[in-house]
Amino acid sequence: MSANCIFCKIVAGEIPATKVYEDADVLAFMDIGPVIKGHTLVIPKQHFDPLTATPEPVLAQLMAVVKKIAAAQLHGLRADGVNVMQANGAAAGQVVPHLHFHVIPRFAADGHRWNWAAKKYDDPAELQQLAAAIKAAVT
Ligand code: 5GP
Ligand code: ZN
Repeated sequence: MSANCIFCKIVAGEIPATKVYEDADVLAFMDIGPVIKGHTLVIPKQHFDPLTATPEPVLAQLMAVVKKIAAAQLHGLRADGVNVMQANGAAAGQVVPHLHFHVIPRFAADGHRWNWAAKKYDDPAELQQLAAAIKAAVT
């Protein structure tokens, strides 16, 4: 448990949460501020953060539960679709620094639009340079 971590406190039962799934290692509970009603968070019970510091076996366990919750939203809430999102760092919009996946049910008429403003590269060389930098850093 990490001191002052709100999600560790939820795992420990020190802060209430409405749980929808739990096993030995993973917890899923309702987000208190839903982007769309039914918005669920999936977290490891052990404190990890960010994604890049989390062991692969933990990520595999988490993704299996993300799949379960997405399926439950489709079937149990009759959602038409599901968004899965995950933020790393304040620059990416992360507020709670305990790894979590947002599983958000989507409905054809929910009216929600992500602010996904596609941009353009200055020229093809810029795209290639950035690709080369990522490729060289892949371990
Ligand atoms: P982030 O911006 O870090 O990716 O998302 C954090 C999420 O945690 C937000 O969607 C926010 O509504 C949710 N959240 C923050 N505090 C609490 C809490 O005490 N209980 C629950 N259930 N959700 C919380
Ligand atoms: Zn934590």
